[in-house]
Amino acid sequence: KIYKRHLLITGGAGFIGSHVIRLFVNKYPDYQIVNLDKLTYAGNLANLKDIEDKPNYQFVKADICDFERMLSLFKEYQIDGVIHLAAESHVDRSIKDPFTFAQTNVMGTLTLLQAAKIVWGEDFEDKLFYHVSTDEVYGALEFDDTLFTETTPYAPHSPYSASKASSDHFVRAYHDTYGMPTVISNCSNNYGPYQFPEKLIPLFIHNIRHKKPLPVYGKGENVRDWLYVVDHARAIDLVFHQGRIAETYNIGGFNEWKNIDLIKVIIKTVDEQLGHAAGTSDGLITYVTDRAGHDLRYAIDSTKIKDELGWEPSLQFEEGIAKTVKWYLENQAWMDNITSGAYEQYYEDMYGNR
Ligand code: NAD
Repeated sequence: KIYKRHLLITGGAGFIGSHVIRLFVNKYPDYQIVNLDKLTYAGNLANLKDIEDKPNYQFVKADICDFERMLSLFKEYQIDGVIHLAAESHVDRSIKDPFTFAQTNVMGTLTLLQAAKIVWGEDFEDKLFYHVSTDEVYGALEFDDTLFTETTPYAPHSPYSASKASSDHFVRAYHDTYGMPTVISNCSNNYGPYQFPEKLIPLFIHNIRHKKPLPVYGKGENVRDWLYVVDHARAIDLVFHQGRIAETYNIGGFNEWKNIDLIKVIIKTVDEQLGHAAGTSDGLITYVTDRAGHDLRYAIDSTKIKDELGWEPSLQFEEGIAKTVKWYLENQAWMDNITSGAYEQYYEDMYGNR
């Protein structure tokens, strides 16, 4: 079959990547979609069961840091567009192991950029390198600060956000130095199905179901903006096809929640869906020592993508949370598979044996 486009989507076995792959494979049968993933602890091909047999989908297990392999993959699949999501993504892990974050997020991104540049031979017509990034590169806000915009200066604090900031700069450098067509989006916290249960929402749903303590950092005062992952995937589709070259687009839900209030919504929703009386799981909340350097607040202004590309979140937060809780409760096997083995050790290292 002759395909109209050949896209390399990295990190497609992870949380957001799997939603992006699903959307592109189903929506664009005339594109060949190559999912490149190393399958670290966070990569899980079970996230893609429903699309793995589609003719326009191809999985390749590889490391984005492997330059020779990237060169040959770009050639073999005649890649003309990249959507780069592969990364180490968990702030707590970056505090314990910053080297892995520099390696994958900085060197891996640079390796992909250089492979694209060499294979594309600086003939960049109809090519695009799209880098998916985070709002954490902008640093932290006080409660009364205005929201992050695309022109907010970078001020990352954690090894994770420092590595993502660095990779964003390399992407811009490839545009400014070599003329590579690039685009970047910076998104707020995502939630939804297939998220690894080290992140707050799936972790808490899982713990409530098992009547385990809910470890809340500090006093639970930190504020995050939350977006349903499928809305992020829709935004990525729009930016990929209609975003202006060399631009940055902020993607967020205009949906700020203080952690402790969010946790109360999760508890209420899980209790309701499990048929428990109101308040059953309230006592599981357990305050633990705050994360080192915990950023107080992130909040993103996504007016630009709304005005330019017509994107808006499609789901109200309560609706998104109800859908998400339902999905985790109905997909026990997916969760049990992940939370056995290495996860148990990780959990004990993080929160002790409770
Ligand atoms: P994730 O941890 O769920 O998935 C990351 C994927 O990348 C995994 O499948 C993993 O196997 C793969 N990977 C890791 N190292 C690799 C390597 N060296 N080579 C090839 N593949 C490798 O992450 P996520 O939450 O889906 O995030 C995806 C991207 O979106 C990341 O770049 C992240 O920085 C960004 N982002 C995430 C959020 C969020 O709330 N989760 C918000 C904004 C931006």
